[in-house]
Amino acid sequence: MNVLLINPIARSWSKPNCFPSGLGYIASVLRNNDHHIDVLDFNAIRQEDITYEGWITSKGKKDYDWIGITGIITQYKDVKKIAKICRDYFGNVFIICGGPLATSVPDLLLNNTEVDKCVIGEGEEVIFDLMDDIFDKINLNHRKYSFVTTIKNLDTIPMPAYDLFPTSVYCDNPIAYLNTRKWVDGSIAIHELRPHTRSMNIIGSRGCPYNCIYCYHNYMGCGYRVRGAKAIVEEMKYLAQNYNVEYIHFGDDCFAFSVKKMKEFCEEIFAMQFRSDFKWNMTWSCAGRANVMNKDMASMMKDAGCVGVCYGFESGSQEMLDVMNKHVILDNYRRAVEISKEYFVYEDYTFMINMFGETDETVQESIDFCKEVDIVPSAVFFTTVYPGTKMFEMLVEQGKIFPNDYAWMEKYILCLDEQGEDMKWSDMLWWSKYSVDHVKQWHKEFIGKTNAWNKEKHV
Ligand code: SF4
Repeated sequence: MNVLLINPIARSWSKPNCFPSGLGYIASVLRNNDHHIDVLDFNAIRQEDITYEGWITSKGKKDYDWIGITGIITQYKDVKKIAKICRDYFGNVFIICGGPLATSVPDLLLNNTEVDKCVIGEGEEVIFDLMDDIFDKINLNHRKYSFVTTIKNLDTIPMPAYDLFPTSVYCDNPIAYLNTRKWVDGSIAIHELRPHTRSMNIIGSRGCPYNCIYCYHNYMGCGYRVRGAKAIVEEMKYLAQNYNVEYIHFGDDCFAFSVKKMKEFCEEIFAMQFRSDFKWNMTWSCAGRANVMNKDMASMMKDAGCVGVCYGFESGSQEMLDVMNKHVILDNYRRAVEISKEYFVYEDYTFMINMFGETDETVQESIDFCKEVDIVPSAVFFTTVYPGTKMFEMLVEQGKIFPNDYAWMEKYILCLDEQGEDMKWSDMLWWSKYSVDHVKQWHKEFIGKTNAWNKEKHV
């Protein structure tokens, strides 16, 4: 089949530095099955004077069998616009939406946009069932029909089809700790000590074994799965050889979770160098879990090139951590901070305020905790209720959120801010006895007293 895959613009205030891995995986499995793929990666090729419409129509009217659009929740507006342009330009073409957006608000997409089908969850296998339907012309008038799937063995999927995307653009713009403005205002700045280091994000695992109530990744209880060490290291090597990448940031939610898997991965890095004469000059960073981190793990990670670990601490109040269902105690945090300071050159700790039951006292506990363990939070966010989270469900049950009122939902989604740096939905205090001004004062004080990085707003 002829397929057009589209990646909308993300974070228009910043340069593109995060490769669209999900779309890359879809492109890869489709190509391996002899389908013809065109990619329009608007996020990489963005130019101020060219609109979505201009780009799509300038490519000429090809006879596509279907068009796939990916997106995260904050790209809803762009996905809707692109789907409409495709409908107007390509006529009856079949439009499929995937990624976190389709997984968290499929009904909204099917009702309020030109999207014909949503792939809920992981699309690399089920996309072929959907293509069979397109070929056989069955189920196609039934817009309420989406797919749900989970891949059990991640090693059955080839690495993303980097060569079909403008991958070099992503490598040029530093990611994670190489981007020194990451948490200041989300824009891109080059690390003065490693100014020419080309970087890339990859995925080492999917899912997460935990169920924090504000997090939407675990929507289907699909479980935690890690790719084989060999496949991950091969991908890193491929990026080094083909794109001169020297730094990898693992974008998955919880790469440093399994000590056994981490050991296999670190050992494979050394084994690969032993097997080949390839000059390995790669450093990397990933997300960690404080209750899992220990000295043995940190030591082997450091030896294998790890330079930093990111932790979503979220609060320094045990009461708030329990409300969040974090499954950690503050002593886990104390130990993780101590170990990370000892072994890594870069640490990243994020916090959030205004969780259910937050008070003046619990905010103060968080500030005191940062001072006690001597850390500077990289960011302090306002709690934001994203669709697909346990928090969202709880508020639906309480009659505060209306997922089946699509006009309401659309307005709500369009207000959500990507990094929760401001309260864009004035009713985000559904559960609080405090005023908006009071909560904003918490934010100001937390940032001021801990010197947290995110002082500036996106422009
Ligand atoms: S916040 Fe982190 S630990 Fe909690 S469910 Fe999400 S990914 Fe897992």
